[in-house]
Amino acid sequence: MSESSNVELPAADRVTELRQSLAEIRASVKKASPLNSSPTLVAVSKLKPASDIQACFLDNQLDFGENYVQELEEKARILPPDIRWHFIGTLQSNKAKNLAAIPNLYSIQTLGSIKAATALNKALPNNRGSPLRVLVQVNTSGEDAKSGLPSLTPSSTLAESELIALIKHVVTSCPKLRLEGLMTIGSLEQSIAASDSQENPDFERLKETCNIVSKYLQTTFSDSTQNWGDETTGRLLLSMGMSSDFEAALASGSDIVRVGTGIFGQRPAKTG
Ligand SMILES: *Cc1c(COP(=O)(O)O)cnc(C)c1O
Repeated sequence: MSESSNVELPAADRVTELRQSLAEIRASVKKASPLNSSPTLVAVSKLKPASDIQACFLDNQLDFGENYVQELEEKARILPPDIRWHFIGTLQSNKAKNLAAIPNLYSIQTLGSIKAATALNKALPNNRGSPLRVLVQVNTSGEDAKSGLPSLTPSSTLAESELIALIKHVVTSCPKLRLEGLMTIGSLEQSIAASDSQENPDFERLKETCNIVSKYLQTTFSDSTQNWGDETTGRLLLSMGMSSDFEAALASGSDIVRVGTGIFGQRPAKTG
């Protein structure tokens, strides 16, 4: 039992249920992963009680994803400091301060504007051990309802790309941020249509966009010390895949999958 947390465990049958679904998802992740890859499973705990998170944490789950700033602040305050929090909700510049003050915030996966990057870089404390990992959200499906910047194709004009402008800004002007990779949600219809053939065009688009961004970074900043990508490999990471489509995402080369319902069950409706 972690001494640094006051959060109690849920009822015994709930603990058993969570352990079982976590074990199943972990097994499915492993089975769907290409050989020699070890993707990160982020347990998406939005709208679920802190006691559920505590139960998963005690079952060696370190990575958790949250969508709402205030809910994340409250959970981070009471849950173990060893948890690695990933913010995956809509990022507003005026909430950058609140997020930046969470000491064990591990990444923000939904960066979408220069304004938000600047606000985060400014708000992060100077004594943070390492830069905050950020992933830029890409709207691979092009749906109006989805956040994120347009994806790139080999024929895109990079000088006109909002995505490239943001990438450049983070790498050159935000020393307290580290560009870790790209994130997408993709269209639900695509993921349903792809579940038989295992090839989701939105995931392929994110991969192609990532290759273009990597090449851009390597050629443009070849003289400087690399300050982007995974800290060990230097590779830009792909965050794609949720409960309904993480297996297809892993087959497409995803490095980070974000699974909520598959672990915690259906969520209550968001209120307030
Ligand atoms: C809620 C959410 C998830 C988890 O979705 P499930 O379908 O419950 O697995 C993943 N990513 C983002 C960005 C989310 O908002």
